[in-house]
Amino acid sequence: MTEQQTTDNQATMEKITSLAKRRGFVFQSSEIYGGQNGAWDYGPLGIELKNRIAQAWWKEMTQLNDDIVGIDAAILMHPRTWEASGHVENFTDPLVDCKKCKSRFRADQIPEENLLTKKCPGSDGKFCDGELTDTRKFNLMFKTHIGPAEDTASIIYLRPETAQGIYINYKNIIQSSRMKIPFGIAQIGKAFRNEIVTKNFIFRTCEFEQMEMQFFVKPGTDEQWFNEWRKRRWAFYEKLGVKMDHLRWHQHGPGELAHYAKDAYDIEYLFPMGWRELEGVHNRSDYDLSRHAQYSGKDMQYIDQENNNAGTSVPRYTPFIIETSAGLTRTLLMILCDAYDEEKVSGEAGSAEDWRTVLRFHPSLAPVTVAVLPLMKKDGLAEMAKDIQKVLKEDFATDYDQGGAIGRRYRRQDEAGTPFCITIDYQSKEDGTVTLRFRDSMEQVRIPKDEIASRIRQEIKTYKRSSS
Ligand code: ATP
Repeated sequence: MTEQQTTDNQATMEKITSLAKRRGFVFQSSEIYGGQNGAWDYGPLGIELKNRIAQAWWKEMTQLNDDIVGIDAAILMHPRTWEASGHVENFTDPLVDCKKCKSRFRADQIPEENLLTKKCPGSDGKFCDGELTDTRKFNLMFKTHIGPAEDTASIIYLRPETAQGIYINYKNIIQSSRMKIPFGIAQIGKAFRNEIVTKNFIFRTCEFEQMEMQFFVKPGTDEQWFNEWRKRRWAFYEKLGVKMDHLRWHQHGPGELAHYAKDAYDIEYLFPMGWRELEGVHNRSDYDLSRHAQYSGKDMQYIDQENNNAGTSVPRYTPFIIETSAGLTRTLLMILCDAYDEEKVSGEAGSAEDWRTVLRFHPSLAPVTVAVLPLMKKDGLAEMAKDIQKVLKEDFATDYDQGGAIGRRYRRQDEAGTPFCITIDYQSKEDGTVTLRFRDSMEQVRIPKDEIASRIRQEIKTYKRSSS
């Protein structure tokens, strides 16, 4: 590595993409066939990171909240769902093409001047002055057929969001889990959108995962709950150790509000390519349940038994919904960008290099929590290291590496974001102590091998990001 440790935006995204591939976080889908646009595969480190982010979110939403339960609804839903939700009619992006260079643009993402003059803005830094087509609406839902006949009666969509699977199950949940308003339903799952422009690595893809929570509230209390969920979602990122000066709120103006929304805020993150949406917190009013009631003919009202006064009829109402909607795969990209650091280092034993790339993941998110490294393969050190790893495996995601200079092995773990390394040396054989090395500070302490697990647990609990 050279001194060109730049903060150049483009370069940083390139570095992250290349590190992700090199270390097995994310691969291009169908790479041997030239790649499939808008789709990515998560490798050994990537799936671990993705699972940990999902687990952190799931814990935050369900385990820590008595009034939120989970669901896993099907991707394929009755096509009427998408008529009721407004997706068939409204889930469109404005599309324009360049007749000359054949580039395709979202009309809302190119300068207005180009739309007025119908002149191509060029793409990927390449100049073009070709003529643009008229803007036309393009529905983002993937449409396919179910069953052998490809007629209109067999049309089915891949869900473009996970939310609708929650709405149409809300009565099932009330009946089976005895939930009372206010309460929420959480879901993590795949969603599909035929995005016109997919770029910036895994930021915007055609197949992705969402983490959505829909909170059902009494009309009139919706604004209070909306503010409460804004607070809680902000605190979640703080808990994950994200750089808080890289997060901000963006309130949707009247022109931006979705057809269902009464109020909406995005949490935006400062990605290498600029501020971009990470998560939406929406006050969806009673739009969704009212529409499903209308399209299904089923009663979607909540019967408020709690406030049932003797002698009067039981109060009923259509709940308002506060939604928190985050992209899991987009959060993974954010966590990678946020953790990425290059640092000039000197003097660490065995290290010939003076720069290191380090992913400063919160230890609870790191794909590998602890790596076990024998200083030498011989003299029984490898055996001792393997025994230690066997014990640690029960509680932590571990890695074992016995190849090469110890400094190089530390660098490999830094690059994978492993927060703790345990090194076994000759002294370990004599007195049963090992070296615990910290990723962020590179400090090393000697501790008895029996204390490794409890020390690591403690370090994870009290972790504070020190430098970036
Ligand atoms: P955009 O305006 O960027 O297309 P959106 O406002 O339509 O996004 P939502 O429908 O609110 O997005 O989706 C909720 C979350 O799902 C987003 O904040 C984002 O994290 C994630 N998400 C949406 N579309 C994609 C996609 N194509 N690829 C990856 N993640 C996505």
